[in-house]
Amino acid sequence: MAKTILIGNGTLVTLGEKNRIIKNGAVLIEGNTIKDFGEADELKSKNPNSEFIDASAKVVMPGLICAHHHLYSTFARGMAIPGEPAKNFVEILEKLWWKLDNLLTKEDIYYSSLIPLIECVRNGTTTIIDHHESQSYQKGSLDEIFRAVNKVGIRSSLCLGTSDRYGRGKEGLEENERFLSLLKSRPSELVKGMVGLHAAFTVNDDTLDKSVRLAKKYGVGIHIHCAEDKADEDDSLKKYKMRVIERLNSHGALGEKSIAVHCVHVDKKEMDILKATGTNVVHNPESNMNNAVGCANVLGMMERGIEVGLGTDGMASDMLSQMRCAYLIHRHVKKDPRVAFLEAPTMLLNNNPKIVKRVAGWRVGEIARGALADIILIDYLPPTTLNENNFLGHLIFGLVDATVDTTICNGKILMRDKKLVSLDEESIAKKASQLASELWKRF
Ligand SMILES: [Zn+2]
Repeated sequence: MAKTILIGNGTLVTLGEKNRIIKNGAVLIEGNTIKDFGEADELKSKNPNSEFIDASAKVVMPGLICAHHHLYSTFARGMAIPGEPAKNFVEILEKLWWKLDNLLTKEDIYYSSLIPLIECVRNGTTTIIDHHESQSYQKGSLDEIFRAVNKVGIRSSLCLGTSDRYGRGKEGLEENERFLSLLKSRPSELVKGMVGLHAAFTVNDDTLDKSVRLAKKYGVGIHIHCAEDKADEDDSLKKYKMRVIERLNSHGALGEKSIAVHCVHVDKKEMDILKATGTNVVHNPESNMNNAVGCANVLGMMERGIEVGLGTDGMASDMLSQMRCAYLIHRHVKKDPRVAFLEAPTMLLNNNPKIVKRVAGWRVGEIARGALADIILIDYLPPTTLNENNFLGHLIFGLVDATVDTTICNGKILMRDKKLVSLDEESIAKKASQLASELWKRF
């Protein structure tokens, strides 16, 4: 029998289809799976030999999911960007991101991944869907992230954002294929793959068609930035006489396993296509505000039945604060205090697990028998009544600022009592900082 861990005496929040809150609750893990949950006293008497984790004064809930991340963006933190400040989205790409990802070395990729992965553990994010870019080092780049993910121990779906902006689209697709083929021959419990495309406006029709064929061959979806800025739509209309989503659809790039990131500037017709094809949309409100590209009409998309998840776009790894940002921005933009209280948590707690199930096949985001054992413990003593009816109020105004104490992914304890179990955080940060300084000199 596999090792069992019993987490008890805390406030258990199951999430899933029907969220249950069990005051003195417990959850039993066997191997990498949740075997049972319920009242702590009952589970303790049934499982006297399990390793016991005391969750007194804590909320026990499923690990969180980031549906769009960029691990590679770490070394931009604190970096001075030479010249005049970027005045629009395209200039932000040209002056910062495209320049940065054209300088990354093999070692940079590994260390710039480790840092946000550790921050995921610290913030209770146990699954990410990452979108990598490194024009300077494409072949083998996904292996470096794979190594980092395995070292830290959270789940991730990986892809390389293929782009024709420097004429290296072929190489990008080859890397996606090499990695998908590797995962096929040697399946990993923690890592899955997708086919990555940077964005509609940097991918030509030939690359787009090849990426669709590649995705079909491996039974995966496409992960692409769509209509993040109006420039993407303008480019598509000018070059292809179609809007971004229409063009992707005409090439067969959409579907239930594909992710259209941002969709800030899509129109009603494009929303209808997203709905008809079952394509997932991922909303990144902090990033959209930071890049000043506008506010995506994701509430309208959700009303239409489009699956809208939540990501950070590499800005952070804290999903609860991202959820609160989504809650705030839509109230602010709509000037309506009745909206987003349900929708923002729904993106994170309900839709992100559905998206992960579609793109990676993992059953996560709920405490249920048979679900994967991704569980977090958060320091939280409810100052008012906490139950199923008012959980979202506690989530948005309380838990969002509470500290994650313990993080478990795939049945393995990654952080306990706020200490990383098997990583030397200080030496990793030191090495990352040294590599970042060298990169800044090249920049
Ligand atoms: Zn992104």
